[in-house]
Amino acid sequence: MAVTIERTGMLLIISGPSGTGKGTLVEKLMNSDPSIRFSCSVTTRKPRDGEIEGIHYHFVDDAAYAKMVANNEFLEHATVHGHSYGTLRAPVEELMRQGYNVLLDIDPQGAISVMENAKDYVSVFILPPSFEDLRIRLHTRNTDDPVEIERRLNNARGEVKNIGRYQYAVINDNLELAFTQLQYIVNAEKQRTLRFKPTINED
Ligand code: ADP
Ligand code: 5GP
Repeated sequence: MAVTIERTGMLLIISGPSGTGKGTLVEKLMNSDPSIRFSCSVTTRKPRDGEIEGIHYHFVDDAAYAKMVANNEFLEHATVHGHSYGTLRAPVEELMRQGYNVLLDIDPQGAISVMENAKDYVSVFILPPSFEDLRIRLHTRNTDDPVEIERRLNNARGEVKNIGRYQYAVINDNLELAFTQLQYIVNAEKQRTLRFKPTINED
């Protein structure tokens, strides 16, 4: 081959308010790009219908979670809407060593913590087109009761104040447009010479 290509994995942080469409966009991205691996978080929240252990989350009890915190197993962890969530450090590091791009779907507290501590990352904040749309999406998704939805909406008003701390922002109004914008970001970031190291061979 004329060109030898070496790639370093990217830590891709997707964050934003609950109900803004992160999961929807992440699923589309995962289905379209085999270079990306999803970081399966640990949570103390109960599984929703259809959620699978080890795919969507590792579901643990409070004691197991506390032990993981004490053992410093988390790259970041936070209390989100009253439940505990954490990103396991070891699988993220291992996947990146293997050259994969690792996607974290985490809340803004976790995202800011990673941005403050990681050497290299790509951070994207996903916004809803309005708080009213966010309310409708949370109701339409039908996974949370009205009290929980109000809590998530209130949190969203604080979370959007941190948009400026992210490298990129995408408004998820038209899903296909938002997805295309996310793909542009990911594809451009893959070509940065920090992560993409082509060498032209002599012949
Ligand atoms: P998050 O992962 O950010 O909490 P979800 O991906 O679960 O959000 O999306 C919340 C709800 O909004 C889901 O019912 C999803 O189908 C819907 N949704 C996602 N993107 C859009 C969009 N662009 N327009 C309308 N509804 C959307
Ligand atoms: P849900 O309970 O709706 O699956 O997720 C609620 C929120 O927790 C979402 O904003 C999601 O991005 C966030 N979240 C999921 N996993 C993690 C994690 O490991 N760390 C942090 N900080 N947030 C997470």
